[in-house]
Amino acid sequence: MSIDSRESFYKDKIRHIRVANTGGHRAPHKPLLMLLVLGQYLKGKRLIRFADICEPLTLMLREFGPYRRNYYPNFPFIKLHNDGLWKISGDVAVDTLNRGGYSKNFLIDNHFTGRFEPGFERYLLEDRNHLLDIARFILETNFPATIHQDILQIAQIDLNDTAERTVDSRQKGRDPHFREDVLIAYNYTCAVCGFELRLGRNPVGLEAAHIRWHSAGGEDAISNGMALCSLHHKLFDLGVFTLTDQYEIALSDMINGNVGIIERFRSHQITLPSRDYPAIGNIRWHRREVFKGSI
Ligand SMILES: [Zn+2]
Repeated sequence: MSIDSRESFYKDKIRHIRVANTGGHRAPHKPLLMLLVLGQYLKGKRLIRFADICEPLTLMLREFGPYRRNYYPNFPFIKLHNDGLWKISGDVAVDTLNRGGYSKNFLIDNHFTGRFEPGFERYLLEDRNHLLDIARFILETNFPATIHQDILQIAQIDLNDTAERTVDSRQKGRDPHFREDVLIAYNYTCAVCGFELRLGRNPVGLEAAHIRWHSAGGEDAISNGMALCSLHHKLFDLGVFTLTDQYEIALSDMINGNVGIIERFRSHQITLPSRDYPAIGNIRWHRREVFKGSI
């Protein structure tokens, strides 16, 4: 098969992934598993242990799946096998069509692992862009654009990371704890406006922003992060506002329209984190490279 026909072959398979007994409900379990695994492939891993992926997959299901009293990461891990994209194996044989399924502990105790089906794996690995393109496709066919970045952050996928990298920098990758560390340091509150909302246990509408962008060499460190609500994150990344060396909010003089949403915070100091204040070097980078104005 040519590259083009393989691309449509696999996208077709992904589009038709079977979801059992959902009665019209959204079932993003398999897509979320695939995104997590793609993130692992980007880091050079191939054989994915269920024991390793159980926790992040549960987190993904809780944050991005429909509300459930309990979450079962074991189901997609086993059932994806039946879609021809994924192979699992463990100490004992299982019937992947078994309706009752197998418990989390069963999969852990019997050392179950999974990896993409050989042909699919070959396609993903022969060109980094294939892998990123498949990740983008899974996102776009299953989730609204507003939560793409949140999902990618947990899956540790940077869709813009297409350039050829040395093995060293690729292995360095993203720090999976960045988001959580930043949100904790800022007490789950937007540093600009104080927005803080949870849905059950999960913070919503709150993001860990990079001050110096990752694509520009910014670190996954609290001193390069800020907890911002979705709106202020967007305004910050677009250069509507920046910070002074005293952590005060400076506004672009280009803004017009209903500016109250940000104007009210002009010259206010942001709410500083419990540790690791934003590094001045990172703030100055943002001021120089992103901010639409001068101070
Ligand atoms: Zn805010």
